[in-house]
Amino acid sequence: GILLPFLLAFVWLVGLHLWRKKSRSSLADDIKSGIENQEFFLVYQPIVSSDDGKAKGVEALVRWQHPQMGLVRPDLFIPIAEQSQLIVPLTNYIFERALADFSKLSVDSGFRIGFNVAPEHFIQSDIEAKFRYLKDAFARIGVQPLIEITERQLLTADMCERITALRELDILVAIDDFGTGQTTLSLLQTFTLDYLKIDKCFIDTIGQDSVTSHVLDTIIELCHKMNYVAVAEGVETQQQADYLISRDVHFLQGYLFAKPMKLDELSHWLEAHSE
Ligand code: C2E
Ligand code: MG
Ligand code: MG
Ligand code: MG
Repeated sequence: GILLPFLLAFVWLVGLHLWRKKSRSSLADDIKSGIENQEFFLVYQPIVSSDDGKAKGVEALVRWQHPQMGLVRPDLFIPIAEQSQLIVPLTNYIFERALADFSKLSVDSGFRIGFNVAPEHFIQSDIEAKFRYLKDAFARIGVQPLIEITERQLLTADMCERITALRELDILVAIDDFGTGQTTLSLLQTFTLDYLKIDKCFIDTIGQDSVTSHVLDTIIELCHKMNYVAVAEGVETQQQADYLISRDVHFLQGYLFAKPMKLDELSHWLEAHSE
């Protein structure tokens, strides 16, 4: 008699576990077929220079037009793609898609496209050959690729070596969402990066209480001292932009300037903002 509730709870828990596992694996199956059926596409968000307000590059952000679920945001499917070994084929598809997109556009030489690259990608044994291919392919259309990595990636063992190899190929490397992960500052002593993207949560503190914006000021100072190009993410108000410009933050990205756009829309936006 006393065992029955436990037994029921156990059966319920096992059922829940199996159901979750199933929904996860079927979403992974959907990602796999989604890559084959070209359901993924890219939107591009301009990154403007604080000197002249012109776009010097974009960040490529992936979107998924799921046949039943509609538009799915990356926060939902990127973690699943990472756990199911699908992130490498997905990222390769993203690179090819951006190559195809930008071969239809004419941009100033040195125009940069930032890609978010997950840690799983760097474990590939042919990573160097792949990046060499990418660099050449993008160079042919006058574009410079930039790889955005998050702090959690810096913590893996031979990442330092991989980053150095990338930079030797003239591929720019940015640390993304800076300040939200677990970088110890000492890690920044071990290698050099090109860009540092200051997470939106710090930009949000501008104009709020002074204690939190001291942290932002310190990150900006760190960029200047270490010769990182500073990029502010999630700039939404003119007040934030003015503050960042007054502190010599080099690049600004956010809804104040432009939302992520499909290629057609981006092409019009670039035309309208080139002079
Ligand atoms: P992230 O790399 O930090 O990208 C910036 C996110 O901030 C994007 O969200 C962008 O749309 C959003 N954003 C930009 N400006 C503003 C603003 O002014 N206000 C607000 N509220 N948001 C702004 P999105 O596109 O939903 O991407 C979310 C995250 O998903 C990205 O964060 C990145 O970590 C990941 N992700 C996106 N595309 C890819 C990809 O191709 N590969 C990988 N591995 N991850 C990706
Ligand atoms: Mg990013
Ligand atoms: Mg970011
Ligand atoms: Mg972010």
